[in-house]
Parts: sequence; C-alpha cells; structure tokens
Amino acid sequence: MSVAFVLRMPLGQVRCDIPRNMGAILFKFSNAPHEAACRASFLAWPTAQTRLSAPIRDSGATIGQPRREGMMLRRSDESDATTMPTSACSTASNFSIAPTTAGDFPLTSVQSSKRSPTVLTAKSLQTASEPRELMLVEHTDVPQLLRRTHIRSGYRPLNQSVRYYLASAFKLHNEVVNFWTHLLPLAFIYARYIHPELFFEPQPRWQLLILYSGISILFVASSMTHLLHSRSQLDHVFWLLIDFSGILTFSLCVGIQRLSMRENSSAVFNYLYLSSLVFVSYLQYWSTSFLFVLKHSWKPRHLIRLITCLACGIWPYIPLASRYFYQSTETVDVGLTYHSNALFWLLLSGIFMGANIPECFAPGVFDYFCYGHQLFHLCVFMVTWNLCEAAHYDASLVDLSKSDGLYGVAMNTLLGNVLAVGATIWLLVECAKSKIDEKKHL
Ligand SMILES: [Zn+2]
Repeated sequence: MSVAFVLRMPLGQVRCDIPRNMGAILFKFSNAPHEAACRASFLAWPTAQTRLSAPIRDSGATIGQPRREGMMLRRSDESDATTMPTSACSTASNFSIAPTTAGDFPLTSVQSSKRSPTVLTAKSLQTASEPRELMLVEHTDVPQLLRRTHIRSGYRPLNQSVRYYLASAFKLHNEVVNFWTHLLPLAFIYARYIHPELFFEPQPRWQLLILYSGISILFVASSMTHLLHSRSQLDHVFWLLIDFSGILTFSLCVGIQRLSMRENSSAVFNYLYLSSLVFVSYLQYWSTSFLFVLKHSWKPRHLIRLITCLACGIWPYIPLASRYFYQSTETVDVGLTYHSNALFWLLLSGIFMGANIPECFAPGVFDYFCYGHQLFHLCVFMVTWNLCEAAHYDASLVDLSKSDGLYGVAMNTLLGNVLAVGATIWLLVECAKSKIDEKKHL
C-alpha cells in the first residue's frame, strides 16, 4: 500500500505515489502524451548527467502503442528520493489523496548525481515537451528481442515518439552508425549513378534504373529500420520485415538487371531464370520472415537463413555464368571483375553479420563503433558500388535494345513483388500482435 497525491495540471493529471517504506517514489502521468510525461519526470531531478538506466518496459497489452496510461519512475538513490517528490507535491494547491498499490506498471529506475531536487511545478511540466539529451539504457533494460548480441550499452529507451527516434539520427547511440552507413551510400549512389542516368543520358536505360531502384530501396529500408525499430517489440518486428523486404527487392532487381544485359539470351532461358530467381528470392524472404516472427527461438532458423541467403546471393550470378566459363585469357573482362568484387564483398559481409565480429571477442567494447553489423553495412556498400560499376560498364558494351522485350515482364515481376511484400508484412505483423497480446516471447 502507498499514498498517492493527485495533481491536476494543464498537461494532464500527475499522481505521486509514496510507498510506506519510502524506498521508491513513483510518478504517474495520465491524459498526456507519454513522451511528455517521461521528460517531465526527469525535470523533477534536473541533474547534469541524468541517465535512464532502465526503460519503461512493455507490459504486454500496450506494446507497439504509445503509452497513454502513463509511466512510473523510480529513483535508485533512495536518500534523495525520500525528500524530493514530497516537497514537489506539497507545493501544489490542487491535489487529492487516495490509497493505491504500486505495481500495475513495471518500474523504471533513474541514476542521478547528488544535486538537490527541484520542485515539480505545472510550468516545468509544460516546458518539458522535448528531451534535452538522448537518454540511453543498457542491454538488460530492453526486451530480449531488441538486444544485439555482445552489445551491452547505447540502447535508446522504448515507447518514445516517432520524432524522438528520427531526431536520434543526430545523437550518439548504438544504431546511429548503422543508419548513416546506409544513408550516406545512398546519397553517393544517387550522385554518382542515378542523377547522371536520369538527367544526362539522352534516353535513361531501364536496365540500369532497375538496379539503382533496388539499391535505393535496400538502403532506405535499412536506414529507416535502424532508426525506428527500437520503439517497441512490434515496431521492431515491423521494421525488420521492411528490412527483409528491401533485401528481397534488391535481389530481384540485381537478377533482372543482369538478365537484361545478358548477350544472346533466349526466351526460354529468360523465362526459366526469372521464375527460378523469384522462387529462390522468396524462399529466402519467407523463410527468414516467417521464422523470425513465428519461430524466433528456434535455433535451426539461423542455419536455414544462412543457406537461403547464400542461394539468394549466388543466384543473380547465373546470367554471368557464360562469361566466367568462356572468358578470354588475352583480354580482361573489366565488368566481370567488378561482378567478382561484388561477390567477394558479399561473402565478407556475411562473415561480419553472422559471426558478430569483432564484438564477440570483446563484448561491450564495440557498442557504438565498429561492431559487426556496421562492418556488414560497409561491405554491403562495397557490394552495391561494384554492382553499379559493373552494370555501368556492361551497359556500354551491350546492345540494350535487344532486351526491351523483358521490360514488361520485369515490371510485372516487381509490381507483383510489391503486392506480395505488402501481404506478407500485414500477415506477419498481425501474427506478431497476437503473440505479443498473449504475452508470449517472440
Ligand atoms: Zn542493417
């Protein structure tokens, strides 16, 4: 049992719970956006280096939704905690007392310096609409689903506003490098290849634009995923599915581009290859996505993902097979060298991604910089750069008008891909919702 002081304010209703043992002081804000409430709580302890050591944990029923009901904060420094909220509430003129029990929400702890607390006033609550600094939490303070292997710190707290996560692109945390290592390459690819193709070529080549589109979708999906996936477990699922969809689209686009630049390609080969490309790409996409949502703890899923990803990475090389087998020993096929470089970087990226190198050797050391996923991103950038160079070079040697008959099939394939991806994401997000509602761990 504890005593609750309820303070009615323009921003909403503030409840100050004081448990009998005074070991923790709880604030609960209602009728206000949860992010404003959280920050207002921090203003109650305005320290130079206030740091949220644990996030507002998902209670299950509200995962993926802004927490309208409110939040509770607990101060880990008990000696200070016994004085501050009492004085805060005692200055207010409009409060009521009601018995309550603490425990309807998981608690959040705050570590702060020993500075004296500030009185919580209506004015301070009203001005607390935006965070002054990014508050980071430890890996133990986020759900298992959101933890990175061997990454111990630098996590953003859950259940903040979308604007909070968008703004975190300019703050230091353990996803910010992942964001920029795919957004900056997108800018480079645009400036180096897409813009000249669109504005300086007399007739933009659809074969190249398909490749550039696939790369752009891959980078945009990945960047936004790393920026927004930390909001909740459901957001994590949704954005990871977006990321997987970007990889799928990228694979299809690479395969179609290479097929469209294949010399003397027969209609039968085109049909068989395109069908098999779609099959292999979707085998990888669906196995990864469905197992991620429905069998997240099933260990063989990682092996299945590795095999299907490998198949998906190699399949786009089939249209190049004849060039590998029959290349001249006297002249160098420059385009093929770029294609081979792309495969090398792709395999290297898989090692960084799958083995979590180097953070596996020193957990907690690479939390912000140079951990495996960031190196994976850099390798993916090298893959795309080599792909663009290869396509650009090949396009200068091949009569592209011969593959114009593939244009309609290619467009239909990509349109069907949009529909299939949309249906898959919708289905799996619904599955994830029901699993989270049942309080099952993904
Ligand atoms: Zn990534």
